[in-house]
Amino acid sequence: MKTKILVTGGAGYIGSHTCIALHEAGYDIVVYDNLSNSNREAINRVSILIGQPIEFIEGDIRDTELLREVFALHKFFGVIHFAGLKAVGESVSKPLLYYNNNVSGTITLLEVMAEYSVKNIVFSSSATVYGDPESLPIDERSKRSCTNPYGQSKLAVEHILEDLAASDDSWNLIALRYFNPVGAHPSGQIGEDPNDIPNNLMPYISQVAVDKLEKLSIFGNDYSTVDGTGVRDFIHVTDLAQGHVAAFDYLEKQSRLNESGTTQQYSVGFLPINLGTGKGTSVLELVCAFSDVSGQAIPYQFTDRRAGDIASCYASVDKAKMLLGWQAELSITDMCQDTWRWQSMYPNGYDVS
Ligand code: NAD
Ligand code: UDP
Repeated sequence: MKTKILVTGGAGYIGSHTCIALHEAGYDIVVYDNLSNSNREAINRVSILIGQPIEFIEGDIRDTELLREVFALHKFFGVIHFAGLKAVGESVSKPLLYYNNNVSGTITLLEVMAEYSVKNIVFSSSATVYGDPESLPIDERSKRSCTNPYGQSKLAVEHILEDLAASDDSWNLIALRYFNPVGAHPSGQIGEDPNDIPNNLMPYISQVAVDKLEKLSIFGNDYSTVDGTGVRDFIHVTDLAQGHVAAFDYLEKQSRLNESGTTQQYSVGFLPINLGTGKGTSVLELVCAFSDVSGQAIPYQFTDRRAGDIASCYASVDKAKMLLGWQAELSITDMCQDTWRWQSMYPNGYDVS
């Protein structure tokens, strides 16, 4: 029998790509999403890409009763928990919404998991938990600190998972700390579909390239980096998706070893792991790469630094390689090519009306 995984937030950007990777790796999936920041069309497209319907439940992670029904109906091995709100600016103006959705929602999910003795979870954390790093590359033991409610909500959930692991060693809790996910599925059928004007760099660049936006503002050219612009660790979303498969393969292998009785019972506990490429790319380098790949000019202007931004951020990727046997494979050119394919095929994202 196939191992079954509940994917909360599976209709979203990273979730939809991960559903494909999980299916290809032989996992059975059930998607649970309230569609607050996604479109049912993403689920339809994933179903077409994998050649079979996806089991989809429209629901909120704060809805205890609905979660109970879902857990009673399915025998899950574990949960991948993408569901959450992610706009930093909005989190500053609506902190209660962010704490309620991201923190209370996660507590509700964990409570129902405990009721049904499902104790394997992979949580979407973020490099934002490192704040302004003291040294680079950033490894998992680096100090954590956050300055905005979105980041605080991720950090709060990490603390909850740590406390849970300390209280009961039957929990296996992996927090994947993503660096900067970009790109789209190579088919061009699914990708990132921001609601309004994008806050993030790659979707902004790609919308300038298709003339939806006039000009990119580059926030600061006086950082002490290779060309004065910010440096980030951009990672292709399909590489990131494979990282989730590797994390679940690891949890499954662990549980098989425990069940076989050949090893001493081993608890994964709370395991934070970076998912990045380990390489930094500057904002200007990404703009040039995108322009080369798309053949489009990307007009830009330098403006003031954005409040809260740091100069440079890139991951130490040794832990992911050592424990999960996973590393990112795709280049900045691949990330730009796949983003461009999705953006030029679907300039208005999933809104094809
Ligand atoms: P996304 O907004 O595309 O996907 C999140 C999904 O969760 C959406 O489909 C949304 O409808 C759903 N959702 C939100 N609240 C829900 C709730 N209460 N109940 C049920 N479903 C709910 O975002 P994404 O980029 O795919 O990110 C996935 C996760 O990864 C998020 O937790 C995000 O914070 C985290 N993350 C994202 C990035 C990034 O740059 N994209 C970086 C680091 C971490
Ligand atoms: N950035 C920019 N213009 C934009 C959006 C982002 O210059 O319109 C820069 C930002 O200052 C940072 C980098 O691009 O140096 C990545 O920003 P993004 O918001 O994509 O991700 P973050 O690292 O902030 O999570």
